[in-house]
Amino acid sequence: MNLHEFQAKELFARHGIPISPGHVAATPDEARAFAERIGFPVVVKAQVHSGGRGKAGGVKLAHNAEEAQEKARAILGLTIQGLPVRQVLVTRAVDIASETYAGILLDRATRRPLVMVSAAGGVDIEETARTSPEKILRVPVNQRTGLLAYQARDIMRRVQPDPALATRMASVLEALYRVWWESDASLCEINPLVVTTGGEVLALDAKVSLDDNALYRHADLLAYRDDRDESAGAVLAREKGLSYVKLDGDIGCIVNGAGLAMATLDLVTHYGGSPANFLDIGGSSNPEKMVTALQVITGDSHVRAILINIFGGITRCDDVARGLLQALDRMPIEAPLVIRLTGTNEEEARRILSERGISATTSMDEAVQDAVSRAQGVPV
Ligand code: GDP
Ligand code: MN
Repeated sequence: MNLHEFQAKELFARHGIPISPGHVAATPDEARAFAERIGFPVVVKAQVHSGGRGKAGGVKLAHNAEEAQEKARAILGLTIQGLPVRQVLVTRAVDIASETYAGILLDRATRRPLVMVSAAGGVDIEETARTSPEKILRVPVNQRTGLLAYQARDIMRRVQPDPALATRMASVLEALYRVWWESDASLCEINPLVVTTGGEVLALDAKVSLDDNALYRHADLLAYRDDRDESAGAVLAREKGLSYVKLDGDIGCIVNGAGLAMATLDLVTHYGGSPANFLDIGGSSNPEKMVTALQVITGDSHVRAILINIFGGITRCDDVARGLLQALDRMPIEAPLVIRLTGTNEEEARRILSERGISATTSMDEAVQDAVSRAQGVPV
């Protein structure tokens, strides 16, 4: 789950990270009123779950009330990376002397928290990461001790020549680590962490991604959930307890078991296809799950073929077949359907399906190749 900038800043402020005061507005009039309260100049910023807002025209300075209203109107009309802007943050503008990048994430390779800091902060950090990765300092942290004060100071001294400023930036980094640790975040990022021309250290932007599997421990953070940036399919899957991850491809995959689902994605890729999602319907024998799964998959307009891959153990293939027929009765499915069923009650399942003229294979290899060619529009 991702937080909006204003939510992440609230969280940061609770941990003592300095931010400039701001308010969230849903209309240009509201934005104007808040701007007048804050005092000019202000920055008006799109609140969407996406980076690169500055480059997309979603971050603008305003010097007076009219301008604040106009900029808010323009930004509220934007769609950034497919996400309509519904709210703007109005915050006090500052004069920037330097922009630093500071981030903490979970590094799966070393299985440790990783602190990343760069003197080349700001809107071009992705480009820097790609073209000059040596400009980004990466420091793994021992999770037993956490980020120690001397480590944080050492890191910041390497990007900030002024020792007094480096010490204050180090305090911000320590606080950022505490937020990351205490909220079970997968990513906490400040880009840019600025020094103003007046010598103030401020988190000008804030990004937090939380680990969904730990959210049950954070009732306060759950209140930050904003479903509106999620697809209807993703919301439905979560409500019905299916693990669903949207991917970029065009083959919708419905699989029982996370391991088999991963193997299915690998095999689809192996045969030159591109999976549209990860979807694990779980191990139980409930036909309703298949109905939900098909609702989720058909809600994704990129799907050009649907691959159902079931290895029947506790899950009974005949239940899956019945669920599938129920789903077909309830909703039209236009994409070609490729079915692989094997294991418990597979003969019964094939009989149920064949009565409706639907065929199923027992071979995963065959099914995947079939789905790949159908998605590519090649008749089999
Ligand atoms: P992002 O593009 O989504 O990462 O949005 P940011 O909040 O990081 O803003 C993008 C850029 O706008 C920053 O890197 C700054 O250069 C600029 N910016 C944001 N707030 C201010 C401000 O108060 N004053 C000035 N001068 N620039 C700002
Ligand atoms: Mn930013």
